Amino acid sequence: MEAEAFRTAAREMIDYVIDYLEGIRDRRVLPTVEPGYMRGMLPEEAPREPEPWSAVLSDIERVIMPGVTHWHSPHFHAFYPTANSYPGILADILSGAIACIGFTWQSSPACTELEMNMMDWLGKLLALPKEFLFCSGGKGGGVIQGTASEATLVALLAAKARTVKAVKAQHPEWNEASIAGMLVAYTSEQAHCSVERAGMLGGMKMHLLETGESLTLTGAKLEEAVKEDLARGLIPCYVVATLGTTTTCAFDDILSIGPVCEKFGLWLHIDAAYAGAAFICPEFRHLLNGVEYAESFNFNPHKWMLVNFDCSALWFKDASLVVDAFNVDPVYLKHDQQGVVPDYRHWQIPLGRRFRSLKLWFVFRLLGVEGIQENVRKHVRLARRFHRLLLEDPRFSVPFPPAMGLVCFRLEGSNERSKMLLNLIRESGKIFLVPGGVKETFFLRFSICARTTTEEDVDFAWREIQSLADQVAPDV
Ligand code: PLP
Repeated sequence: MEAEAFRTAAREMIDYVIDYLEGIRDRRVLPTVEPGYMRGMLPEEAPREPEPWSAVLSDIERVIMPGVTHWHSPHFHAFYPTANSYPGILADILSGAIACIGFTWQSSPACTELEMNMMDWLGKLLALPKEFLFCSGGKGGGVIQGTASEATLVALLAAKARTVKAVKAQHPEWNEASIAGMLVAYTSEQAHCSVERAGMLGGMKMHLLETGESLTLTGAKLEEAVKEDLARGLIPCYVVATLGTTTTCAFDDILSIGPVCEKFGLWLHIDAAYAGAAFICPEFRHLLNGVEYAESFNFNPHKWMLVNFDCSALWFKDASLVVDAFNVDPVYLKHDQQGVVPDYRHWQIPLGRRFRSLKLWFVFRLLGVEGIQENVRKHVRLARRFHRLLLEDPRFSVPFPPAMGLVCFRLEGSNERSKMLLNLIRESGKIFLVPGGVKETFFLRFSICARTTTEEDVDFAWREIQSLADQVAPDV
């Protein structure tokens, strides 16, 4: 494809994208295809000769769209939001054109430097302690990871390296592998499954600690577990606290967890994948109090901050602990400025990295902080509206307090009734939501997701849920 053909195709592609997003409300949010639906639609092999752009463009509706779940439909209420905004898309186009691989500062200085500046802008908006920011001139700073799962794993590996080194210094006769085998990590039973998985991938036992009725991990529970492990001769190492759990958006009590981590020398990582975006609004910032105890803090602008996937923001108080944990230094990656500015390859698992900070830059500049805050506030308002509607109908109950843009609800009576309601919602396909389960309680999660969701969309979803609930038989 030559430049002029690209110019024409790009204009058509942009028109398609705008028409798709502006018309998305009228598409069925969940596809109706069966597994393997695409096989008969595509040739057996890749074309030998180039095809015209018009053929590709027309196949988007024929082949792709029938199998797309429309995550940006205002009728999508599943999981948590994933961000989408025109500024984010614009930046991705530019990133695709520059197409640099920013593994070292020298490999594309703008890629590293914009990221450092954006991570400081974002950190200041969250009012993170200054130790997390590059501009403090200390050892801290931020980096963009692909996902919160990677952030949890990177922090775990850094914590592991730090602890192994410290224990080895005290017991030079112990070998590193046996020290690593004695390390233990802690999180709540409500943490995202990626935390448990980080333990598996990073080779560290992960204790999933019980939470009480509020589904909140406390310092007292953590301290009890740490003391038990010490008594068994294990070495407590790493703690992941969640602000805004996946199932119910519960908040761990970091103000009591932090001092326990300090007392026992544990690395505290805070996972605020979804709820973190809310902390840029002053009225929600208090939920982050206690972050000063953390060694690392992470949230996903690609969830609720209008920055298209992937963009997961991770800060360290002392980034040298990560850099030293993963440092390899082959000749072909060396450059004259090493040590003066970050080489982000040391801060992550892969070597290659895209120019993701462009998305933050465009979103900040084209929407402004106020635009980003308004999106958060709108979602919270819409969730409260849905909650009020629920309370007016005695057939429903709310098993956990609504938080941020999430409302958990169920039909009164047995779990079977709520499961039946969920099946009816899935069959009808007008809205999409997913269930949750805590202990023995099954419930449905209603999450405000799309940037464009309105009060009318919430009312539409509520009418759909109410009318399908009419079909659910009472318990006998
Ligand atoms: N942590 C929490 C609290 C989450 O809610 C999620 C996903 O919803 C994750 C981690 C995983 O995020 P990612 O897909 O960026 O790894």
